[in-house]
Amino acid sequence: MVNLTFFGGIEEIGGNKVLLEDKSTRVFLDFGTPFSKEKVYFQWPELRPANIDDLFKTNILPQFKNFFRFSKGEPFVDGILITHAHMDHYGYIPLVREDIPIHTGRYTRDLIKIRNRTYYQTWDRKIGHLEFKELKTGRSKTIKDITVYPFSVDHSVPGAHAFILRTSAGTIVYTGDFRLSGFMKGLTETFVKQLKKEDVKCMICEGTNLAKEPREADKHKLPSEGDVERKTNYHVEKADDLVIYDGSTVDLDRIRTVWKVAKKHGRKFVMESRLAYILLETQKTGLIKDLPGKGDFLIYLNRLKQRGTDKYVEVYGQGRVNHEKRMIEDPEIADDWFVWGPDGRDKILKNPEEYLLYTTNGIIMMIQFKPVDKDIPGTYIYGKAEPYSEEQAFTYERLKNWIKLCGLKMKFAHTSGHCSPEQLSEILKEVCPEVLIPIHTEFPSLFLELIDEKATRIKLAKEGERVEIR
Ligand SMILES: [Zn+2]
Repeated sequence: MVNLTFFGGIEEIGGNKVLLEDKSTRVFLDFGTPFSKEKVYFQWPELRPANIDDLFKTNILPQFKNFFRFSKGEPFVDGILITHAHMDHYGYIPLVREDIPIHTGRYTRDLIKIRNRTYYQTWDRKIGHLEFKELKTGRSKTIKDITVYPFSVDHSVPGAHAFILRTSAGTIVYTGDFRLSGFMKGLTETFVKQLKKEDVKCMICEGTNLAKEPREADKHKLPSEGDVERKTNYHVEKADDLVIYDGSTVDLDRIRTVWKVAKKHGRKFVMESRLAYILLETQKTGLIKDLPGKGDFLIYLNRLKQRGTDKYVEVYGQGRVNHEKRMIEDPEIADDWFVWGPDGRDKILKNPEEYLLYTTNGIIMMIQFKPVDKDIPGTYIYGKAEPYSEEQAFTYERLKNWIKLCGLKMKFAHTSGHCSPEQLSEILKEVCPEVLIPIHTEFPSLFLELIDEKATRIKLAKEGERVEIR
């Protein structure tokens, strides 16, 4: 018998933490930040949990014994398996003690480490103590009583995995997040092909795109990443002034797509500093090809307020976040690749038709770029398929307020990071798992419409409740 306990991802998008217990073996499948739960009590950046107790007292995180940093005794689990480098799947691993290994793919490990270097090293962000162990598609890994078969899948971040787990109760599948609309959809197809050969006892399946009514930004969703390129191209062709593209963090496929469009139209591609750093560091690992490299884009540096003045000015060095400092000090990055604060913004606004600005935080960009008495002349392309965002607490209404205030034309060009309900239905009917447990969805009961009820039984798990698989 195997026990599954869901400490997150139930009736919420993200925050996945699934405890799998088989005989004397215990592992977590993902250990993500539950943004929707954090949002109830906290607000970034001023109202943040100050220590782990703040997460316990708000019931955001259970008090697992012998699990968190600085605890002692026999470790609570034998390991944590992380599917991909989105915070809602890995965000709480900094809280875990050093002798609990983190099993994940190379891309995911590198992206977690690179992203981490762009954060202030607060108590909940330090990862230097963690031991990462590599998972590889095509190579199984045995952790005591269970064996893990990692499979690469397509998602809106490179390097995502799904897991097939051999347990004493049979084969258990955990999809993580996956899609069939990206350039790497062949990976997901291979994974599904394998599932069809398996006798699947239990499938823990994500259902992000299940919704009772279409969400506003969902109405503009395109079928594939190729369509995103065509649509972005169409909008840029029509625009005769600045184009701002607002995309998701670490969606490197999307950066490539938008960069190609900028190049085609002879526009200078400007990236916010955090993304520029992630891109340059990712390239050093040699993992991903065909991405814009050094000299292919300009790096926008945020303004910072200098102490002792009431004027916003660019400050070099002191106060600048680490990743910006590193790029500024990198001898291989030329000075004129930077767009320096207020001066750089003035330059862009003087000839807006020459630039395409790529950001993951459009509101911050608009706050900084909008002149006091004028509009920002241009087009705003919203490129996030999920308006609630898996990555951050996010107010879609506030974004629209800013776009209106700036006088920007709002357009859309995006595709989802997740399967559509129709695609899920097809997969589930072909795989025919004995038990299906929905996760990473606000509406788990909608899975009832997607399955063959004669072949598959749905178990709607409750948070913290143990589900027995036998
Ligand atoms: Zn994800």
